[in-house]
Amino acid sequence: MRLSRYFLPTLRETPKEAEIVSHRLMLRAGLVRQESAGIYAWLPLGLRVLNKVCAVIREEQDRSGAVELLMPTVQSAELWRESGRYEAYGKEMLRITDRHEREMLYGPTAEEVITEIFRASVRSYKDLPKNLYQISWKFRDEVRPRFGTMRSREFLMKDAYSFDLDQAGARHAYNRMFVAYLRTFAGLGLKAIPMRADTGPIGGDLSHEFIILASTGESEVFCDRAYLDFEIPPATTDFEDVPGLQGIVDAWTSHYAATDEMHEPDAFAEVPEASRLSARGIEVGHIFYFGTKYSEPMGAKVTGPDGIERPVHMGSYGIGPSRLVAAIIEASHDEAGIVWPDAVAPFDVALINLKVGDAATDGACAEIQAQLEAAGMSVLYDDRDERPGAKFATADLIGLPWQVIVGPKGLAEGRVELKRRATGERETLAPVDLLARLK
Ligand code: ATP
Ligand code: MG
Ligand code: MG
Ligand code: MG
Repeated sequence: MRLSRYFLPTLRETPKEAEIVSHRLMLRAGLVRQESAGIYAWLPLGLRVLNKVCAVIREEQDRSGAVELLMPTVQSAELWRESGRYEAYGKEMLRITDRHEREMLYGPTAEEVITEIFRASVRSYKDLPKNLYQISWKFRDEVRPRFGTMRSREFLMKDAYSFDLDQAGARHAYNRMFVAYLRTFAGLGLKAIPMRADTGPIGGDLSHEFIILASTGESEVFCDRAYLDFEIPPATTDFEDVPGLQGIVDAWTSHYAATDEMHEPDAFAEVPEASRLSARGIEVGHIFYFGTKYSEPMGAKVTGPDGIERPVHMGSYGIGPSRLVAAIIEASHDEAGIVWPDAVAPFDVALINLKVGDAATDGACAEIQAQLEAAGMSVLYDDRDERPGAKFATADLIGLPWQVIVGPKGLAEGRVELKRRATGERETLAPVDLLARLK
């Protein structure tokens, strides 16, 4: 992609309204633009990151056995009356009346819709277990939308819903998601710690929040440092292995870790002092088991092997991709800008032409771009007629993992410069050697 043809509205000034670094950098790097309070447009560079985050989430959801679908964002109030949540949900719900005076709403979550879909077609235990997920926009009329896409009103959520015949089955479904979440956050370059959490308005009795430690986090959390060095379950993990998954979850819940609602100071005091960590955290994921809370009132029943009908046991499992983009920046930036982890970088390489219009330099850049793209790398080629300083600043600000710097002086000696954004390390090499170095 040539930058001259792209759409990258970067800002030189730091926007005053942005209180935290990720919000400042997302605005400055041209990732998003606020359209109304807590409502953002995702600009091309931001959208590429968001899509990469979703790709990692999808890969791990699919690996764990979940199946993707897509539900409507606008839902009927009727369904929410069936579950009893329509009144209870309160002001966070954006309520809409259509031209026929029907009460609708913009979904803040989708337990009711998925339960309706399930009950319409599943009748027997033989069709279980099932886990259905979607990645879709949600709306919550947050009292205090802030910190950019960290707490917005319209936001993207991956929400999965599991259906099992009994509690033991549901426990395994929960464990699948628990392990999938560990892998997802690690795949995004983050250290997320599962913490015992309150179940809130969704209800139920088994719940963990996945928390990233960050000084700007809105949650107060308490945990054992040991988790920071725990091993992430490998891609070869067998998700059908019931005791195997339980073993992983047992290990990952063996030490103290709780959010403030669930915090027990006496139990925390027993953690060795050197391991005790009380910090701020960002909730990036949340998993719940809530049994028959929705299936019972909404009549989502299946027949068991004994021929008796009973309500299915359900769980729901959320991740916030749009919040994650901000959380990743909170965890990975420096004074010059964003430092994207490789897995979510919007492009792999920033190709910087130091002398646009110079035939040799233009030619070398075109060749390098073609060579890297043919090998499957994505390249953002800065072919703008700008000073080198401005190009370097843009490249650092948008944080692509590699910068390839091409100018007439180096080319005269057959060399280009390669810079690793994360470390600032530089080396010079022949253009033909770039690919081997980057792969
Ligand atoms: P919070 O405590 O931050 O308000 P929540 O507990 O209300 O979040 P859940 O209902 O558990 O959120 O939703 C699942 C996930 O959706 C959260 O873990 C988070 O990653 C994401 N999420 C929730 N609210 C927002 C929001 N306003 N903006 C961006 N992401 C959000
Ligand atoms: Mg909330
Ligand atoms: Mg919460
Ligand atoms: Mg939550």
